Amino acid sequence: MADRIVDPWGARTPYPRGGDWPIRVDENTEGPVDEWVQSACVLCSHGCALDIGVRDGRIVGVRGRGVDRVNHGRLGPKGLFGWQANNAPDRLLHPLVRRGGELQTASWDEAMSLIVERSQELLATRGSGALGFYTSGQLFLEDYYTLALVARGGIGTNHLDGNTRLCTATAGQSLKETFGCDGQPAGVHDIENCDTILHVGINTAETQTVLWMHELDRLRGPDPPRSVVIDPRQTESAREAEVHLAIRPGTNLAILNGLAQQLIETDRLDRGFIERHTIGFDALERTVSGYTPQRVAEICGIAADDVRRAAEIIGEAERLLTFVLQGVYQSHQATASACAFHNLQLVRGMTGGPGSGIWQMNGQPTAQNTRETGCNGDLPAFRNWQNEEHVAELAALWNVEPLQIPHWGPPTHAMEIFRYAEQGSIEFLWVSGTNPAVSLPELERIRSILSQNGLFLVVSDAFLSETARLADVVLPAALWGEKTGTFTNADRTVHLSDQAVAPPGEARPDMEIFLDYARRLDLRDKDGEPLVKWSTPEECFEAWKECTRGRPCDYTGLSYDKLRGGSGIQWPCNDAAPEGTERLYEDLTFPTFPDVCEDYGHDLATGATLSEADFKALRPDGRAVLKATEWTLPHEWARDEYPFALATGRTVYHFHTRTKTGRTPELQAAAPDAWVELSAADATRLNVAEGDLLRVSSPRGSVEAPARIGRLREGVIFIPFHYGYWDVGDDAGPDGRPRAANELTMTIWDPVSKQPQLKTGAVRVEKAR
Ligand code: SF4
Repeated sequence: MADRIVDPWGARTPYPRGGDWPIRVDENTEGPVDEWVQSACVLCSHGCALDIGVRDGRIVGVRGRGVDRVNHGRLGPKGLFGWQANNAPDRLLHPLVRRGGELQTASWDEAMSLIVERSQELLATRGSGALGFYTSGQLFLEDYYTLALVARGGIGTNHLDGNTRLCTATAGQSLKETFGCDGQPAGVHDIENCDTILHVGINTAETQTVLWMHELDRLRGPDPPRSVVIDPRQTESAREAEVHLAIRPGTNLAILNGLAQQLIETDRLDRGFIERHTIGFDALERTVSGYTPQRVAEICGIAADDVRRAAEIIGEAERLLTFVLQGVYQSHQATASACAFHNLQLVRGMTGGPGSGIWQMNGQPTAQNTRETGCNGDLPAFRNWQNEEHVAELAALWNVEPLQIPHWGPPTHAMEIFRYAEQGSIEFLWVSGTNPAVSLPELERIRSILSQNGLFLVVSDAFLSETARLADVVLPAALWGEKTGTFTNADRTVHLSDQAVAPPGEARPDMEIFLDYARRLDLRDKDGEPLVKWSTPEECFEAWKECTRGRPCDYTGLSYDKLRGGSGIQWPCNDAAPEGTERLYEDLTFPTFPDVCEDYGHDLATGATLSEADFKALRPDGRAVLKATEWTLPHEWARDEYPFALATGRTVYHFHTRTKTGRTPELQAAAPDAWVELSAADATRLNVAEGDLLRVSSPRGSVEAPARIGRLREGVIFIPFHYGYWDVGDDAGPDGRPRAANELTMTIWDPVSKQPQLKTGAVRVEKAR
């Protein structure tokens, strides 16, 4: 299998437009397998279906599921090798509590009693707003839904969010702004039918490797799609593109407005579609009119002719498929830019048909479920916190009073949760399955918040992460493969993952931990019955189905039995669509009716929330909302003392903060340490050779790592954000040097989606020694 480290995508299996992507079953096992157990990969949002190989009660490998619609049997390097983390020797086996400043082994009873006593004390003295919960994009739907009920319906706190705030908050928010509701419009099979692909700020070749295989096999087959890529780096997809626009970081909205301007000026529009199915075209036309190719070229640092060529390709497309990810979501004017893709797609009438659509991609593997279940700043099943009827529905479902569910303001987003903890109004924070001490911006500040005396920090995780080391109580959690549950990928495909092996030591599934917490807190419904009515994952899934009934993410046609044996199935899946739904909005009716929509929308420039009355006055009523915004200068713009723009990002071999992939020998060996990537021109100017140790500094901190001379535009520095300190010491990398990219990033977020701007910042670069 070593070649899948060298060649992450494996051999090509080309297919023509409209053809079926051939099946290729990838497998990696350590010796013979006694039993195969159905599951899917949780190392990125593509969610490839796989079977887990088990021998003697231990995971010994995986193989792709050829029957599955998403991956047709293929797996990427993380999927093929990442399962080894389950068997890592440093798994957390017992709860830990802090005694005399040290984390020491404790019983479950002692650990949970401490958590519950602290919770009760704060509820009695400070109220529910003193408790906050920060969860993950890597748990299962059943874990999240249980947490959402406990936090929102039981404790009654508004402070619940997920680390999906860092990766997909903008995806969800932009879909709400344009279409009225979250939910990926396109499906994976649209790759087989498109004639043009637009990639913006997404490096599928490294972040969703199997998605890239699907695209690459089209590119290698007969009648390949044309391709435009917008990215400051020359990624694999950029190398395949007909036009690559290597724009200056922070200028996404300018180029997108420029492309819209060209479509309008050259009249490459579907005016009938615009008239019947959208509102806001006149304002869009006015806003983008000043973004001529020449002006856009100056702002973005590219050639005006390339803007025209890209617009021509998009304008000539008959089936346009657009992919967007962190280069947009974690950057300046994130939601406004993400909505600008919708504008391009909609003015060309390319939504709802085969091969035409939008992939507002997710990053975290189960981020979709965090969003759906109400763990990511929304109410469950895409309910609108401003809509009293939606709140009442939820209250009836949970059998609690509507006022018990906080909805006096928008659910608190992660950046605010950490600010409240910093300021002392949140005194209890439970972090489950994520590692903010490496992944959040401005780490010096985050470490100081997490370690302050006034904060009672609970961490449930499978490993003693950088965050867990700062906790008052650490709970050992079961990983994928050690529990049963479901999760949903970026194209709405729901997979069942059956338990293959027992969790090690005393580790428990997150759902069980939250159930135990609810029992010990004695959370009750309004009739005095236990608030949480389920005790198994399947019972939770059945309850979740009821929560989604009639909502856009309707799961009522699914069941564990239906998900066993064959392919994953896309929601909505109900009586009207018993086999699931390949793409949304085929009837060109969007969920922008005031009584249905998940959100009334925002002013994209300021983030001001629209009221129900504001929204009704727009009268979208089933039409998509075109929203246009002027480009503005980013908060930090590379110049003077800090002349480089910083882009943080990912490598093909690691996931998130390497908690799992750093414990996978092949993946860790392939990318053992951070690096600083710069262009050949900048390297020459700074007299830097490959491997020289560089120091990168921002007003927040510094990072030291070896130079890698790469293919990115001049004036841009790339640093992968995966690397923290758990494997090399408490607060420094190899040789005592700081290496976490988020030492450099700043505490600033998008005004609409509240996603931190991890890819906007200015830095200085020099040789370290
Ligand atoms: S593409 Fe994503 S889901 Fe598929 S195997 Fe790779 S990491 Fe896993």
